[in-house]
Amino acid sequence: MTSILVVEDDTAIRGALSRGLTERGHAVTLATAGLNGLELLLSARPDVVLLDLGLPDVDGLQVISMIRAVDATPIIVITARDDDEALVKALDAGADDFVSKPFSLPQIDARIRAILRRGGTAPGDAQPIVVGGLSIDPRTRTASLDDRALELSRKEFDLLLVLASRVGEVITKRELLAEVWQQGYGGGERTVDVHLSWLRRKLGETAAEPRYLHTVRGVGVRMVAPRPNGGDG
Ligand code: CA
Repeated sequence: MTSILVVEDDTAIRGALSRGLTERGHAVTLATAGLNGLELLLSARPDVVLLDLGLPDVDGLQVISMIRAVDATPIIVITARDDDEALVKALDAGADDFVSKPFSLPQIDARIRAILRRGGTAPGDAQPIVVGGLSIDPRTRTASLDDRALELSRKEFDLLLVLASRVGEVITKRELLAEVWQQGYGGGERTVDVHLSWLRRKLGETAAEPRYLHTVRGVGVRMVAPRPNGGDG
């Protein structure tokens, strides 16, 4: 599932995008103006932003610059057919792609897929994540512990990435199941347990003597950086 932030002041277009993208299985967040869009970008952390250039409060070009000042979330600009100059400026300001009004939903959907493919593997932040002696690179899908490469299966890597990208937070097994296995509710928590125990072994720890992966009984798992001296004094 792709999470999409739509920033569009036109009620009809916003509604059509919301319905169409939701029907295609995406999670859609709606903003009616630029500043509201920026707030939602930071709180909802979408995979892609669909941005109208003609907004009531802040110019769309400024919105692009403001987004680019904080992160690299892909931006697809929605332009009027005759907006050639604005489109060039938008691309120069850091937009990744555009669609012209009137647009079709299959076309927008295809552009979203293309942009996420171009962006590489995991949507969101592609910078390496460092937690204590652990380093996880989403772009190359490699991980190391104390400068030693870890040999992880695909699911083990995904699990580690989800946990490390939300370090300090307790993540439920259901959330892990949804994020790593794309499964909904019901069953499968045993799958998470098994993969967690494999991951622990590779990190050189056990559930009884955790360093990075701490079980919060009845709730879920939390990743933390171990204390510098090993911690058990
Ligand atoms: Ca508009």
